[in-house]
Amino acid sequence: MSAWVAREHHRFEAAGKPFVYLVPSAAIFALDDAADSVLRTLSARPYTREELAIVLGGATAVGRARSASTLDADSLDAAIAELTRVQAIGKAAAPVAPTPKVIPLAPFPLTTMVLNVTNQCNLSCTYCYEYGEDKIVDTENGKQPKFMSEETARESVDFMLKESGSNKLAHITFFGGETLLNFPVLRKTIAYAKQRAAEVGKDVDFSLTTNATLLKPEIIEFLAEERVGVTISIDGPREVQDKFRVFQNGTGSYDIVAPKIKELLRRHRSRPIGARVTLTSGKMDVKRIYQHLTEEIGFWEVGFAPVTTSPNRAHAISDGGYDEMLSQFRDLAYEFLETTVAGRHHGFSNVKETLEELHKGVSKAFPCGAGLGLLGVATDGDVALCHRFAGSDAHQLGTVRDGIDRQAQQTFLEQHHIANKTDCHTCWARPLCSGGCYHEAHTRYGETTHPNLHYCNWIRGWTDVCLRIYGELSERNPAFLAQFDDEEMKELVS
Ligand code: SF4
Ligand code: SF4
Repeated sequence: MSAWVAREHHRFEAAGKPFVYLVPSAAIFALDDAADSVLRTLSARPYTREELAIVLGGATAVGRARSASTLDADSLDAAIAELTRVQAIGKAAAPVAPTPKVIPLAPFPLTTMVLNVTNQCNLSCTYCYEYGEDKIVDTENGKQPKFMSEETARESVDFMLKESGSNKLAHITFFGGETLLNFPVLRKTIAYAKQRAAEVGKDVDFSLTTNATLLKPEIIEFLAEERVGVTISIDGPREVQDKFRVFQNGTGSYDIVAPKIKELLRRHRSRPIGARVTLTSGKMDVKRIYQHLTEEIGFWEVGFAPVTTSPNRAHAISDGGYDEMLSQFRDLAYEFLETTVAGRHHGFSNVKETLEELHKGVSKAFPCGAGLGLLGVATDGDVALCHRFAGSDAHQLGTVRDGIDRQAQQTFLEQHHIANKTDCHTCWARPLCSGGCYHEAHTRYGETTHPNLHYCNWIRGWTDVCLRIYGELSERNPAFLAQFDDEEMKELVS
């Protein structure tokens, strides 16, 4: 009689109940007591049906009396059938299929184009990946112009509309450097994109990221009128912001940006405005930063990301720092939970984004859309994996004039598929992580193909927190999760 084994899963508890996250299918199930007992028993080692009946059925074979928690034969068989149906357990003899290496069929439609309208910045943030010691592209003496021309921007729009294939909606995100240094081109690009999209029967959604230093009434008016989604890079209260986010002469930027952001939030009501915070080793008061940015400044949502840098930099987050970050994220995530259960809005966007992925059963063969549904365009029109690689010859995937280099794209996809990341093959968090950001990997290991093994504990810890929040919400406010049912999944630009 062949034995049963537990398949890859992650068990967790929420709202006083056991749940399981199934790795191959990325599905989440609530377990009843019988299924939970069987799964836990099989997680220790394989058992046959008869052995399970003895172990879980009150050990009648060794003469012990049945207790209230023991399983009768019908309950055991029902639990085995249910766990088998959802592929949480299987026969030990049955081979487990390896991760299929399915490469999306070309031409894969472009969903989001990130347009680096300038590679210049008026701030000099100490930790910046673009200008600091970890930079990939020489934006001072390199071949790219410092500002994208109107003509290149128009060619980029034509490229986007063509490469979006049959998609009715295209997303254009403006990025930098400091995006608003090239506001004249940004403004004309939006006008051109709207006109061209209308001609071909499509819609375009616009967004941008800015450090807020150059916001002024006419720009704010324009962004509100055009319904441009805005993300502000800001690190928190004055003492935190002014530590790293400084002008070239070293003065802090808080006093410049705070009033401008408040004015933006007052006037621009057509889209939620988000803040994006970079966390560094010396800047870990997540709750205080969140409170300041939402309650004192007025942001609708705040997302946090650990700094991308080589491990030997002073601002790099250490292993202990990742533990600290996880603990603070957990606190804020539970605040999110209680606020959401009470039917009020909470703007911790990291947890909301992960909940959405969990709800949709996302299982990634690639960590993000870079090189696939998302591409970055450098100031000269070269197309790269994403905005962080824009302008890098080594990560180029064509040009807006000549189109996507399908051969280079195919090679990239072949090399970066999760099937190649053997370190990740036994990791239960891989459906969401899939090895992590290529840019982080490039900075840490010198190769985009390398999984980000320095932050596995953090990723697994955070995914576990989000699973628990998901389980709690499924019991206490399922309507909140239902909002994700019909929403289109957008590319996240970090
Ligand atoms: S990088 Fe680490 S956390 Fe991410 S999938 Fe691979 S092993 Fe898991
Ligand atoms: S996760 Fe990394 S590689 Fe992917 S789009 Fe973001 S910055 Fe680029």
